[in-house]
Amino acid sequence: MNDSPQIASGPFRLNGRDYQLPACPVVAVCIDGCADEYLSSAIAHGHMPRLQQMAASGFRGMARGAMPSFTNVNNAAIACGGPPSLTGISGNFFLDPDSGEEVMMNSPEYLRAPTVFAAASHAGRKVAVVTAKDKLRKFLSKDLEAGICFSSEKANETSMEENGIEDAEALVGRSTPEVYSGDLSLFAMEAGAALLERGEADFLYLTLSDYVQHKHTPDEPEALEFYAGIDAVIGRCLDAGARVGVTADHGMNGKTTAGKPNVLFVEDELRAAFGAGVRVICTITDPYVVHHGALGGFVVVHLEDPSLAEAICRHCLTLPGVAEALPREAAAAKLELPADRLGDLVVLSTRNWVLGRSAEHHDLAMLGGVLRSHGSRYEEIVPLILSEPMPQSQLENAWSDLRSFDLFPLLCPVSS
Ligand SMILES: [Zn+2]
Repeated sequence: MNDSPQIASGPFRLNGRDYQLPACPVVAVCIDGCADEYLSSAIAHGHMPRLQQMAASGFRGMARGAMPSFTNVNNAAIACGGPPSLTGISGNFFLDPDSGEEVMMNSPEYLRAPTVFAAASHAGRKVAVVTAKDKLRKFLSKDLEAGICFSSEKANETSMEENGIEDAEALVGRSTPEVYSGDLSLFAMEAGAALLERGEADFLYLTLSDYVQHKHTPDEPEALEFYAGIDAVIGRCLDAGARVGVTADHGMNGKTTAGKPNVLFVEDELRAAFGAGVRVICTITDPYVVHHGALGGFVVVHLEDPSLAEAICRHCLTLPGVAEALPREAAAAKLELPADRLGDLVVLSTRNWVLGRSAEHHDLAMLGGVLRSHGSRYEEIVPLILSEPMPQSQLENAWSDLRSFDLFPLLCPVSS
């Protein structure tokens, strides 16, 4: 299928790490919200034969992602091969200290490091980045002068000038899917496979949406069917001769007890104890909140009087659902975060709880009794699967502290 006569192979260095481009196509897949249980369950039901084959002949393990375990944070980390202290992307959302406004951290100006996509393109590869949601597209395509970058969500709006491709719908052979659907992800996967099969791309990053995982547990038929669809496209990529790597941006856990969400409204609690000078930002917030109500396992707290930070952290540790509360500098050091893009302290939830701002800021009714979410330590560990054995040069690292943002260095190892 792959008839590219010459695939650029060579070394490059990016953000302090060495890469060696292999002489075959590379496909990296980030299955959004893919806790390892989803893969185990789908494999056990016989729905992922190709991934099972990858695990048997290549590598399957667990990797630690970046904190907070959110989408933008980890997509940026994977794209740059390093933690948020390198990328500058510390949440989906943050309070801009210069303007005092809450802004989405999804535009290229917030990304502080160059991406592997721009580097691989400069090294002569035909790069394609396909995202399910459009929110990721812009910053992942930063400095990508040649190459293809578009989202399933806006597949019907692609242009050569903006996306490096006309008519992405024709590429996949069907129309743009609903944004709240598993099909949004499958469309992105199929677009990537088509680009690879046509020889239009040989260095691909396909990053999906966690709609299915927010709604369904790993054993539900909807999840199993979704993973079967992903596996079929992974098979197409393998059949086209690609080296394939799969990981996730974060896991996913249930956050309800008997149909009722376990929510701690942090701003309400802290204002009751410390007064009105407390502002909580839910950095999971994004334009697509229907499936999680902007409730996740991590919030940042801004204080009118920053000298209260230590006392407020101690108080947070007495509240139900709180696992950790860290002042800014400790959070930056412990969680590898950019200190200038944090509040005065951060709060992390326990496994089955989520943190919100105040009762009036979240509409629990729209959740319909289902709340599965992420953001905490408990969604930090994700699967990592490679179609080839772990490179010798990476083995030591792999058994001590494998990171999901090692994905591209693992796919492009210096000596393999
Ligand atoms: Zn995600």
